[in-house]
Amino acid sequence: MSTTIIDGKAVAARVRAEVARDVADFVARTGRTPGLATVLVGEDPASAVYVGGKQRACAEVGMTPFDHRLPVDASHEQVQQTLEGLNANPDVSGILLQLPVPAHLDGPSLTGLIDAVKDVDGLTPVNAGLLSLGREGLRPCTPLGVMELLKETGAQLESAEAVVIGRSNLFGKPMGALLLAGNATVTTCHSRTRDLPGVCARADILIAAVGRPRIVTADFVKQGAVVIDVGMNRLTPEQAGNKSGLVGDVDFDAVLPRASAITPVPGGVGPMTIAMLLRNTLQAAEMQVAQGR
Ligand code: NAP
Repeated sequence: MSTTIIDGKAVAARVRAEVARDVADFVARTGRTPGLATVLVGEDPASAVYVGGKQRACAEVGMTPFDHRLPVDASHEQVQQTLEGLNANPDVSGILLQLPVPAHLDGPSLTGLIDAVKDVDGLTPVNAGLLSLGREGLRPCTPLGVMELLKETGAQLESAEAVVIGRSNLFGKPMGALLLAGNATVTTCHSRTRDLPGVCARADILIAAVGRPRIVTADFVKQGAVVIDVGMNRLTPEQAGNKSGLVGDVDFDAVLPRASAITPVPGGVGPMTIAMLLRNTLQAAEMQVAQGR
């Protein structure tokens, strides 16, 4: 049996092209241009690179980027003021507070200040609640990206056994809810799960979001399973040897012969996150028009 290596870059490029086409249609129909505001507190180099990528991607699909930067010692009140200003700005369809924020700030409580209809990361309590209740809302980008990859792969969700390793609010919990909405039978694993390999080996669809290099070995994987690797772990030069320093949570070479389809790292789930952020921003703009805002 040959294994499909799921090409996240190609799927993301297709989604971005669709969003660009739909943005042009939205502008022609409403006379408005969707806008995405990013808020970065501090100067963490990795976060600055992510924000830059989001700004560029936004302009590429015909949306207006708004770039807000606050000093590393910004107070809760300063960030709050920025977010409230963006909530009130009709040119801003989507707001993203880049996480993590500096340690003196409370990321979840700041994220919670974002107007739910502009919450393109899908992380506010309102959107988490809507997802949990199975009602329409903005969903977190990375789990949405995984759903898009599963669709592209033709993976059957209905009645499938899906196992997610990781229960974070950012990924694991919303991923489980999206799979459940797709009628999969969902198991969520975490650091206290007994017999992790045994539970994972039941999965038709196995999704790893742990943050531990190559924790998922061949014995975790049922023959023919679809394996999605969300992990992004940076190795030291000594650990990496002459290979790429970025590895996933899945031992790709060992798992490859057992899987029917698998995402590589890099080039699998990673490129999907920004693509889904763009789609969410357009969805937010549509929701605001529908509400007469
Ligand atoms: P997180 O908040 O640290 O959550 C990690 C989860 O893994 C927790 O639920 C934890 O369990 C569980 N875990 C830790 N060690 C375990 C073990 N030995 N066995 C079983 N479960 C274990 O991380 P996250 O934000 O969800 O991210 C997870 C990974 O995905 C990271 O590598 C991150 O970089 C990556 N990621 C990538 C993207 C992307 O765009 N590609 C987006 C988001 C995240 P407990 O809850 O019991 O502690």
